[in-house]
Amino acid sequence: MTSYDPSFLQRLDKRHLWHPFTQMHDYADRDLLLIDRAAGLFLYDAAGRAYYDTISSWWCIVHGHNHPHIMAALRRQTERLDQVLLAGITHENAILLAKRLVDITPPSLTRVFFSDNGSTACEVAMKMALQYWQQAGEPQRKRFVGVERGYHGDTIGTMSVGGTPGFHQAFAPLCFASFRIPAPYCYRCPVGAAPEGCACECSAPLAELLERRGHEIAACIVEPLILAAGGMIVYPAAYLRVITELCRRHGVLVIFDEVATGFGRTGKMFAFEHAGTVPDFLCLSKGITGGTLPLAATMTTEEIFAAFYGPYAENRTFYHGHTFTGNPLAAAAALANLELFEQEDTLNRLQPVIRHLHQAVRRFHALEQVGDVRCLGAIVALELVRDRRTKEPFTFEERVGWPIYLAGLEHGLILRPLGNVIYLWLPLTVTAADVDAIVERVWTVLTRPGVLPPS
Ligand SMILES: *Cc1c(COP(=O)(O)O)cnc(C)c1O
Repeated sequence: MTSYDPSFLQRLDKRHLWHPFTQMHDYADRDLLLIDRAAGLFLYDAAGRAYYDTISSWWCIVHGHNHPHIMAALRRQTERLDQVLLAGITHENAILLAKRLVDITPPSLTRVFFSDNGSTACEVAMKMALQYWQQAGEPQRKRFVGVERGYHGDTIGTMSVGGTPGFHQAFAPLCFASFRIPAPYCYRCPVGAAPEGCACECSAPLAELLERRGHEIAACIVEPLILAAGGMIVYPAAYLRVITELCRRHGVLVIFDEVATGFGRTGKMFAFEHAGTVPDFLCLSKGITGGTLPLAATMTTEEIFAAFYGPYAENRTFYHGHTFTGNPLAAAAALANLELFEQEDTLNRLQPVIRHLHQAVRRFHALEQVGDVRCLGAIVALELVRDRRTKEPFTFEERVGWPIYLAGLEHGLILRPLGNVIYLWLPLTVTAADVDAIVERVWTVLTRPGVLPPS
């Protein structure tokens, strides 16, 4: 139970808190959901009501909430070392975690730079790429390429390579110019191809860009296999292979942003494993601690690292670091998170559940307003449309997600639609029975009169 009366807390919340990605006006006459505790797949509110955490608390929770193994590791660590800087000092957890990350990623990724959130993981990769070229004799490579509907964070650097104007248009004057390639948005294919006949023709603008300006480009940043915040757009592994190869051919470094997809969410440890291709930089965060504490890592190759290595006076140092870089508590949680993948055989156990999930969500095709059903590992998404034939979307003002969110709460579900896209981003400990219960509730929500606008 909360230590204070929940209504007192709600009043204080309204007076003092400013919530992220939230229009506070929505709560003028309504309380925010006050969560008191969590266990496994469930969040519990102050009145003791249970909610399926179907979005893994912003895509972080891996082995369920409060997993005893991670919590025990944290408790042990609190007896030993809370925080220490990682500049000129090191500690066991940072060392062992770097080694574990190198062990579970392709052999070429040998170096780990820690930070504390997904945006910084990406900015570190971008800054390393830029400085790398200055120190590798091609200082004219200063530009970046991003994907439309790509999302890499809310800092100025990551907004500058992102493609979600809905979130970031107010900040355009702060952003630096970068190149953007079309989203591999198969449901609304940018070249009008049918899935059966797809040969990744939508990569042609990248090929043209690289022909013309490749020598100016430092790196290309992309989310492997799913543009998550941009609308849960799942795309073929072949596309990732094609753009990686194009970049390589023009000497452009490749940054895979696996902040969202890393740590099993797509059914493999990392999404790029589906494509059998390897980046120059790999950005990790969200699930790295099993979702318990903030931590991030940017991994790269010996070749990149070597360009920063030299006598002090040569000034090749990477001048970047955050106060809580490699925090010992967070690193302890991350080590325990990775141990669980082995102890619980998480990824093997998950495969039949994933198949069951993908089968179970087919029923949503029966709803007129569901234009597309997209599946990738423990992630599924439904794109709602006004007209299935023309794929006409609902407008921003219609805000179809809001009644779904509210009805979800009444049915014990945390659903947080992204615009017209409803999605499940499930913790990896979900069972087939949980899938059935969640899908049934989503069905109940969507078929409740007045929740979906008539199509
Ligand atoms: C969430 C996210 C980020 C940003 O992470 P923060 O921890 O919110 O800064 C970056 N990239 C991707 C793909 C994400 O989903």
